Amino acid sequence: MSAQSASPARFPTAVYADRLRRAAELTAASGLDALLITPGPDLKYLVGSGAESFERLTCLVIPADGSSPAVVVPTLELAGLGESAVADLGLPVHDWVDGVDPYGVVGSLLPRPGRTAVAEAMPALHVIPLTTALGAPPVLATGVLRELRMVKDDAEIDALRRAGAAIDRVHARMAEWLRAGRTEAQVADDIAAAIVEEGHTGAEFVIVGSGPHGADPHHEVSDRVIEAGDVVVIDIGGPVAPGYNSDSTRTYSIGEPSAEVAAKVAILERAQQAAVDAVRPGVTAESVDVAARSVLAAEGLAEVFVHRTGHGIGLSVHEEPYIVAGNRIELAEGMAFSIEPGIYFRGVWGARIEDIVVVTADGCEAMNLRPHGLTVLPAN
Ligand code: ZN
Ligand code: ZN
Repeated sequence: MSAQSASPARFPTAVYADRLRRAAELTAASGLDALLITPGPDLKYLVGSGAESFERLTCLVIPADGSSPAVVVPTLELAGLGESAVADLGLPVHDWVDGVDPYGVVGSLLPRPGRTAVAEAMPALHVIPLTTALGAPPVLATGVLRELRMVKDDAEIDALRRAGAAIDRVHARMAEWLRAGRTEAQVADDIAAAIVEEGHTGAEFVIVGSGPHGADPHHEVSDRVIEAGDVVVIDIGGPVAPGYNSDSTRTYSIGEPSAEVAAKVAILERAQQAAVDAVRPGVTAESVDVAARSVLAAEGLAEVFVHRTGHGIGLSVHEEPYIVAGNRIELAEGMAFSIEPGIYFRGVWGARIEDIVVVTADGCEAMNLRPHGLTVLPAN
C-alpha cells in the first residue's frame, strides 16, 4: 500500500462535543425537547460509535435545553461503547438489563409529553414503544440531521480524500482482473479484496455490469462471462476509517470499442464535466443536474439518462444533498456529493462516469482523479 495519512478510528473528542452542542441547538430551534438517536450513521456522527442496531434499545438522548446528553444502552452492549467518545465526553450512561423497560428509561430523562425527533431509519420496533413512553409521537429529525451532516469539516473532507484515493487505486489495477472469459462474479470478488487491500475497512458495494447488464444501473453481478467487445460498468466503493465512503464509477471496454460506443461515451464525459463545472457555492443542487442533462439532451440522449445526477456522501453512501430535479438546496462550501450521469441502452450496453466532489469557495475539488473516458483493456 502506498503512503497514506493517518486513519483514526474516530475524531478527537472535542469534535463530538461540538457536534452534540450544535445538535442540541438545532433541536431547540425546531421547538423540540430532545433528539433521540439509535445506532447507525447518525450515532457515529454524533459520538463516534459504530454500535449496531438490535432489537434491544440503544439510544442517545440529546436534550434541547443544553443539559448533558445521555446514553441508554443494554448492559450486554456496554463494551461496544468503548471505542466511542462517550466516556471521554463524560456522558451519563444508563444501562439496562432484560426485563427492564428501556423506553421508560428514556421517558424518565425527558419532560412528559416529550416532544422529540428521531431519524427516518429508527425502526418502528422502537418508535412505537417510545411514543407510549413519551406520551407523544416523535417527529422526523431529517432537517436537523441534514443541517448537521451535509456540510463536512476539514477532517471529514480529508477522510473523503483518503477514500477517493483508495478507490482510485482499485480502478488503476482493473486490468489485473477484468478480461474476457471471466465471470462478473469472479471479477467482483477480486475487486472486493482489492478494495480492502487499498485501505478500506470493507467493500460496501461492487457493481460489474458487462455488456447488456451495463444498461441496468442497479445490476450488481452475475455469472455472465465477459466477452471481447463488451463495455463494462464498474461502480465500487466502501468506507475508510472513521467511516467515510468512497464511490466511483468508470466504464471499460474489453478490446477496442465501436465508433458508436466511443462517440457516445465522449458525450457522457462532456456531460459529467459540465456538471462538475456547474458546482460552486450558491447554486442549487438541481442546477447541477440540469448541467449534465442538457449536454445529453442536446445529443438526443435525454431519454437514456434514467436517474438523478448524484447523491451526497459521507458516513452514508447516499445522503443529502441529492443532485436531482426539484432540489432547490443551495450548495455550500464543504458539501460532498457524487456526479454520475449515465447512459443506458436496454439490452445492449451502458456507461456511467462517477466522481465524488467537495464544494470549495469557488468551485469544487474532485476526490477521484482517474481518467474519465472509456478505459480500453486488452481483450485477452
Ligand atoms: Zn457509484
Ligand atoms: Zn454513487
